[in-house]
Amino acid sequence: MPAPPLSTRVQLVQGDITRQPVAAIVNAANSSLLGGGEVDGAIHRAGGPKILEECRFLRARKYPSGLPPGQAVATTGGNLPAAFVIQTAGPVWHGGNQHEAEELAQCYQSCLKIATAREFESVAFPGISTGIYGYPKPAAAALVVREVRQWLAAHAWPQTVTFVVFDEESQRLYERKLKP
Ligand code: ADP
Repeated sequence: MPAPPLSTRVQLVQGDITRQPVAAIVNAANSSLLGGGEVDGAIHRAGGPKILEECRFLRARKYPSGLPPGQAVATTGGNLPAAFVIQTAGPVWHGGNQHEAEELAQCYQSCLKIATAREFESVAFPGISTGIYGYPKPAAAALVVREVRQWLAAHAWPQTVTFVVFDEESQRLYERKLKP
């Protein structure tokens, strides 16, 4: 079956990512995989202990030094509406000359690679690194929309990607970038 047109495969929602009825949501985790604040905290609170249990297992068995920057790994969604959480650790913003853009692009690519390989129908992303990690929101929105569009143009899965924004500024930035 051919994929639907690109414009209908990208959605923007303002709200809480933990409530999204999608196959997988992405967590802006930290490399420890052992939980943190903001989105990470909200996901573990809403999803229950199964997610942390799996993260602890992955940390011990697969990533003893932590999840490397730019990589991603899928876990259960626990009690969330989403069946899976794709864990990725975004770059900390250090002014823009420390490969932050490459690392942020890699995070999105790694998550999308998992979604494509596992044929997840729908994936929701938060604004990775744009909270505590300090990545400027305008630059992140531009990069992220470009990366996701490029990926979808070349792959049939995931069929849809939802950008979940929390604040008005991000809502406006994504709206502008998503204009045809
Ligand atoms: P990072 O540490 O990667 O910067 P944060 O969790 O601090 O990640 O924030 C990432 C983005 O997610 C921020 O733009 C923040 O406003 C937003 N955010 C925080 N909580 C939620 C939530 N429950 N759903 C969707 N987005 C959220």
